[in-house]
Amino acid sequence: MIKLNLSALAHARVGRDQSVELAIDVVPLGDGELRNLRGMLQLTRVAEGILVQGELTTEARTECTRCLTPFYQPISIELEDIVSLPGASLTPERPVRIHEDGWVDLAPLVREYAWLEMPTSPICSDDCRGLCPQCGGNRNTGECTCEDAPSGDPRWAILQRLASTSDST
Ligand SMILES: [Zn+2]
Ligand SMILES: [Zn+2]
Repeated sequence: MIKLNLSALAHARVGRDQSVELAIDVVPLGDGELRNLRGMLQLTRVAEGILVQGELTTEARTECTRCLTPFYQPISIELEDIVSLPGASLTPERPVRIHEDGWVDLAPLVREYAWLEMPTSPICSDDCRGLCPQCGGNRNTGECTCEDAPSGDPRWAILQRLASTSDST
């Protein structure tokens, strides 16, 4: 949840503004999660509602396309949207509305902006070595030990067996 109380601003005259600092450690999104959400929001009362503007940085949980390991992708968001006033009808363009009690949850809005900033092929690190095409093991964590072993070479298998026997003694 990114909860803000916009009660005062919703009742203020057009042109009134206010800034809010965001610092939220974890924002659950249903189908994902943001963490370390930071930034300043400029909130301005406009005729149709509250204009929300700001630059935010966060990290979005995703999965590395090379090694399939979950990780947090750092992203920056340039938010600029309008939150509707209490009682206004919701539309696809204005999906977020202030509750009668003045509270609003900006998480659905931030989620959309975050999603747009996500790389199409997120990679956990530039030097991610991915999964081994032979054994499927994660090469970053040492799950794969067949790296230097061309499969189907019996001589190598013998050498490996010898090495592991001498290791254990
Ligand atoms: Zn990776
Ligand atoms: Zn392998």
